[in-house]
Amino acid sequence: MTIEALYKLYLQHPSVQTDTRKLKKGDIFFALKGANFNGNLFAVKALEAGAAYAVIDEPVEGADQRCILVEDVLQTLQALAGYHRQQFNIPFIAITGSNGKTTTKELVYAVLASHYKTYTTQGNLNNHIGVPLTLLSIPADAEMAVIEMGANHQKEIAGYCVYTDPTHGIITNCGKAHLEGFGGIEGVRKGKGELYDYIRAHHGTIFRCNDFDYLHTMSKGIEKVIGYGTTEGEITGEVIASEPFLEVHIAKGAGFERVATQLVGAYNVSNVLCAIAIGKTFKVPDEKIKKAIESYAPSNSRSQMVERDGNHIILDAYNANPTSMRAAVENFANLNAPKKVLMLGGMMELGEDSITEHQQMIDLINSFTWHQVVLVGGNFQKTQHSYLFFHDSTEAASWYKQQNFSGTHFLIKGSRSMQMEKILG
Ligand code: ATP
Ligand code: MG
Repeated sequence: MTIEALYKLYLQHPSVQTDTRKLKKGDIFFALKGANFNGNLFAVKALEAGAAYAVIDEPVEGADQRCILVEDVLQTLQALAGYHRQQFNIPFIAITGSNGKTTTKELVYAVLASHYKTYTTQGNLNNHIGVPLTLLSIPADAEMAVIEMGANHQKEIAGYCVYTDPTHGIITNCGKAHLEGFGGIEGVRKGKGELYDYIRAHHGTIFRCNDFDYLHTMSKGIEKVIGYGTTEGEITGEVIASEPFLEVHIAKGAGFERVATQLVGAYNVSNVLCAIAIGKTFKVPDEKIKKAIESYAPSNSRSQMVERDGNHIILDAYNANPTSMRAAVENFANLNAPKKVLMLGGMMELGEDSITEHQQMIDLINSFTWHQVVLVGGNFQKTQHSYLFFHDSTEAASWYKQQNFSGTHFLIKGSRSMQMEKILG
């Protein structure tokens, strides 16, 4: 079946699903394969559960005319997503980078949605399946689309660009994340730079954080650049306070001078400036931009403040890598609080740099004074340190419970697989 023909079916059934457990009546089921599953085996079940069609790439027993046999289900899903995207003549804003994609996306969404019908990536659906699913869920009346793109190896972003066809691009930053898959920091820049390459070739626009020299180098040859940063750019601003919530003074470019956010962490300043730059570019009224940013309160374990048992907890347990952990630790060190406890979980996907990176984190921790430091799992086990160590967050959780802390500030952070949020029960 051609993509055009499949798209006609999609228009009659504009809801696609890859998981039979979440299937709704009338969905088109895409039978994806993973390392541990073969969706083709669930195709008939999906039809029985009410799917309108099942797209498969292996002949299955019990198949009927509602089964659409294609060469490759994933590629078909991506091609269909690309076809749907081409029905829109609206800005498609792609966001990638090592840290702060989701936070930036949420802020940009909040700003644009205050003035336009805006559609964005739900949660963290930012991979080779999530991006096409995001595109396919964009409603016909959307006026803006904001798409998060995550990557941990080369050519991934280039692949997303083929079907997302972004008109605007943002690389939040290039840090020490997924070093294993990208092949070091230069590899990260090359991989994330695929977004700039696409924008350059298609004469699009980028929003660029001017605080990072490498983004200047990477963006050479791009015609339309809207800059933001602490000193240079169309929008400039600086941190006034982060005790614990970030407040930013806008020096230039917006019709307001101060934004008081509900985000913990001075490092969020570039995420905020990016959202302002985009709001201004698309002529969102100043007061709406300010209000949207000030109203955004994370509830997703990212830069979030939680009050628990009389303690003040910076819950930043969604993920971690050396760059974001360094930013979070420094930010916490600068917080003016009487009693501070640091609870850090291991950082994953660092390949051969893993032990060194964990040791450097210990060096950073050593340079400040803490009431208590607790390290959990990962390669912290292989470092030289004199802190409390637990193998996993369950052990750390029982310790936390026994201590009966109160009036204490905590920073809880670690890679996703460490599940550091479990410490709070
Ligand atoms: P993922 O790769 O998991 O999708 P992401 O890039 O979407 O991550 P967020 O979920 O927005 O990133 O933020 C994750 C963590 O990264 C935050 O909780 C914070 O610790 C850190 N972070 C956010 N923004 C920045 C930034 N601009 N610079 C450094 N660290 C940041
Ligand atoms: Mg994300």
